[in-house]
Amino acid sequence: MAFITLDRKAFHHNINMIAKQLQSRDKIALVLKDNAYGHGLEQMAQMASRYGITRAVVRTIDEAMVIQERFNYILVLADTPTIPMPQLNFTINSMDQIRQFPRGSRVELKIDTGMHRNGIAPYLLHHAFEKISKNGLKLEAVLTHHRSADELGTDYFWQRHRFEAVKREALTLAKRYGFEGLRFHSANSAALFRSKEGHDDMVRIGIAAYGCLEMGPTLPQPDLLPVLSLWGEKLSQRRLNRGERIGYGGTFTATRQQTVSNYDLGYADGLLRSASNRYIAPGGETVLGRISMDNCSFNTDAERLLIFNDARQYAEAAGTIAYEALVGLHPRLKRKIVE
Ligand SMILES: *Cc1c(COP(=O)(O)O)cnc(C)c1O
Repeated sequence: MAFITLDRKAFHHNINMIAKQLQSRDKIALVLKDNAYGHGLEQMAQMASRYGITRAVVRTIDEAMVIQERFNYILVLADTPTIPMPQLNFTINSMDQIRQFPRGSRVELKIDTGMHRNGIAPYLLHHAFEKISKNGLKLEAVLTHHRSADELGTDYFWQRHRFEAVKREALTLAKRYGFEGLRFHSANSAALFRSKEGHDDMVRIGIAAYGCLEMGPTLPQPDLLPVLSLWGEKLSQRRLNRGERIGYGGTFTATRQQTVSNYDLGYADGLLRSASNRYIAPGGETVLGRISMDNCSFNTDAERLLIFNDARQYAEAAGTIAYEALVGLHPRLKRKIVE
């Protein structure tokens, strides 16, 4: 069966690079949303907690439940509890959401400093604090998110500037409403490596920990190592004559006698169909013909084929980004940690 390997040494290397840039290990909150970017939630949570990471960020309560024994702090990005869950922190994404939380919930207020996706506008800060207090919630942090920390340009700086103003106002309001020890966070992977400053009390790190961060041209590119490799196992092999064609639509035609092997994964497993006829694996093997639901063909006779060990190159061949390529890997694929 096709499978995934997770390189523990690469992960440790990445965490060390992140801690060095941040000058702290305690401030790292590892983003484990969406099956840990396809790497496997349980496997990554285990590796991270054993390596001393104490904070995690997930999307849903279900994800938080799987890993709650392993972390001191878990922030849920986009879910609202219906019963009190004092062990988790929840993100407030809109004004309306405030009244939906059970009293006593620990919440973190997201501010829209320019991405215009989630969060409340800075001018509503006071109103939000008032409502949070009236609803009996415990406000523990104020956060924002960057829209283009990975691109050269001023966006990153004006969002930071706006957030600094929000922070000043929030500290005054926190005194007034009795939210002691209010914390702040804003940086994702790109923002962390964009600048040595401005990392507040915590950083939310996803793609860098998985080793697939891509900074824009001319920005510093940290030397991170991809954690995940995808492997296929051979189902069958044949010898083609010149002129014979492979797969649906027969989109590849042999120009000479050649060996073709068929491997046990396809787009149902998350192998991107748009990589058909384009992608070249790390060992130089080329995808021949279309990737189908459960199968793909390569010009090799290998029993076991390394499909990719750097999601960035594979994603590029498929016309997408590493995030999408990774997160689409089907949860049923076996994930093994390798030393
Ligand atoms: C996904 C996410 C992150 C992590 O972003 P990376 O680019 O993977 O580091 C951080 N913060 C929020 C709010 C997110 O949704």
